[in-house]
Amino acid sequence: MITTRFAPSPNGSLHLGHAYSAIVAHDLAAEAGGTFLLRIEDIDGERSRPDLAEEFRQDLEWLGLNWEETPPQSSRVASYVAAAQQLKAQELLYPCRCTRAQIAAAAKDFGPDGPVYPGICKHATIPEDEPVAWRLDVARAMELTGALTWHDALAGEQEARPDLAGDVMLVRKDAATPASYHLAATIDDAADAVTLVTRGADLFAATHIHRLLQALLGLAVPRWHHHALLLDASGKKLAKRRDSASLADRRKAGENGKALAQSLRMGQMPCGITLSRYPHGVT
Ligand code: GLU
Repeated sequence: MITTRFAPSPNGSLHLGHAYSAIVAHDLAAEAGGTFLLRIEDIDGERSRPDLAEEFRQDLEWLGLNWEETPPQSSRVASYVAAAQQLKAQELLYPCRCTRAQIAAAAKDFGPDGPVYPGICKHATIPEDEPVAWRLDVARAMELTGALTWHDALAGEQEARPDLAGDVMLVRKDAATPASYHLAATIDDAADAVTLVTRGADLFAATHIHRLLQALLGLAVPRWHHHALLLDASGKKLAKRRDSASLADRRKAGENGKALAQSLRMGQMPCGITLSRYPHGVT
């Protein structure tokens, strides 16, 4: 039995790319008689808007999808804190006081998660009362786990390369945003017993990190399905702020959501939008 999920962040209205993602996850579960979950990833501090979760539910209903909803991330913070404690006890995390600007100025490489952290704080001594983020010592973590692999339904068997992203942040400095996306999503997928993680190919490289975290935290290992992305006329992935026609706009304008879902299933994209298989991330 398979369980898939759609895990939107309520920091802006959903667009056609999200509709496609939800439909892929829904249909993969439905075809196998499995379960399709909705999880609201609402730990993005002030960027998370509580009103959007209800908008998302209405959007999914309008598209004709059925789902089960899991508890939102904001109700699961204790599990992220416990996991971070476990990693700290294993001396796999180190505190980091760097700002984004400092990292951007000092970084030599650009990885799948942005500038690769150049290790400025790796051996620094930081006073206990100073607010810090916590980073994963990826080299040390990989020594502990040894080589890892994971499976993508479209791209096949992959060697996990968490080193490409460098020492990613797992706990943020900002207390209002307790865990990074990587830590929270990995823990939630295990807690929700997701067996097939379906999401866009733009998150392909994130899976290398998630696979490492699963090994470190002793979590079940699902399979993945990184689907094609919808691109706008300039070849860029649709973005919440750039794409004016949100699903909510289309719904409120009286468009037929089920018909739209059917066209997306058949690969028929609305005017100006193309579907691109693996525009980035997959090598
Ligand atoms: N919350 C993420 C987003 O809205 C999706 C994460 C995932 O599917 O793993 O981009």
